[in-house]
Amino acid sequence: MKFNTKAIHGGQHHEPAYGAVMPPIYQTSTYAQTTPGGHKGYEYSRTHNPTRKALEDCFASIESGKFGLAFGSGLAAIDAVLKLLKPGDEVVSTNDLYGGTYRLFKRIFEPFGIQFHFVGMQNIDAIEAQINKNTKLIWVETPTNPMLNIIDLKAVSKLAKANGLLLAVDNTFATPYLQRPLELGADIVMHSATKYLGGHSDVVMGALIVNDEKLAEKLYFIQNASGAICGPMDSFLVLRGIKTLHIRMQRHCENAAAVAKFLSAHPKIQKVYWPGLENHPNHDIAKVQMKDFGGMLSFVTKGNNYAEAIKIVERLKIFTLAESLGGVESLAGHPASMTHASIPKEEREKSGVVDSLIRLSVGIEDIDDLLADLKQAIG
Ligand SMILES: *Cc1c(COP(=O)(O)O)cnc(C)c1O
Repeated sequence: MKFNTKAIHGGQHHEPAYGAVMPPIYQTSTYAQTTPGGHKGYEYSRTHNPTRKALEDCFASIESGKFGLAFGSGLAAIDAVLKLLKPGDEVVSTNDLYGGTYRLFKRIFEPFGIQFHFVGMQNIDAIEAQINKNTKLIWVETPTNPMLNIIDLKAVSKLAKANGLLLAVDNTFATPYLQRPLELGADIVMHSATKYLGGHSDVVMGALIVNDEKLAEKLYFIQNASGAICGPMDSFLVLRGIKTLHIRMQRHCENAAAVAKFLSAHPKIQKVYWPGLENHPNHDIAKVQMKDFGGMLSFVTKGNNYAEAIKIVERLKIFTLAESLGGVESLAGHPASMTHASIPKEEREKSGVVDSLIRLSVGIEDIDDLLADLKQAIG
């Protein structure tokens, strides 16, 4: 089956009782048994739920994996991966990482004795330099947030395999429509399904997808034992969201390309970060490992004025000033005062998060309205 068909049919079967085309919302915590242990494969909804199972099979299908797992949030999914490790283990991770992932690593898992090294992964040698006998996991995010750097997944996978390490990839920004890390050699794919997979800004959810049966068993054990699962209603909503993933992504990419072109030519704009631009430093890798370049884009105004950037995001009318990304509606954010406000100015500027950096999640509205909105806001 090809991707566009998997997005609609992956993991789903017509329901046998009445032929319902959509998997029903099995809003139940428990299941009747005829005799102790005599059940139809479902005992308790933390362990299994039929709506969640349909979604988990759909996750596996669209990421070209064998096993899918759904969690109550993206961070709950990452938390489950980190629980594969033990005190003394070390992790090499991307440096410009989603802030919540960084906080989970540093504030929750470091006190339990796991050590993290954050490196610029565009340089493979920098990753290799951090590997020692305690290293167990490489954690990659690509494209990165909010600088849209691209990391060469085939090269990192080669390095991980040569050193017997697990490779996990946060594929939230790209989605499996644009990039499928398991096909490039990753062991674990993670998603904040809150974003493009759900696609409508109405659910918080996480996903993991793997191919290896032993690894899947360990993760299913953690999912059930730690219990950070998602509910049947949310599972239904994300299943519905995924049915249009391929056409939404097509339009996200198209609109982002037009916005990137408009901003690049604007006299008040200093720099545009979008992997589809030929002047993007990782454009060549993006062209090879991604089908298109995604709907996320950042830009910096000339003069790099903090107050002016805030005025621009306040003046936007169709772009909503909000955290999050990946929904059908366009969103704008100002990392220096929002997502990255807690990071000291010198630290954030080292990775490119300067005062006037504005991040856009380009939605699927009419492009003329989006460009007109940016035009009036930038002035
Ligand atoms: C949002 C996000 C997460 C965290 O997911 P939640 O669903 O908010 O818990 C992790 N990684 C990336 C890249 C994200 O954008």
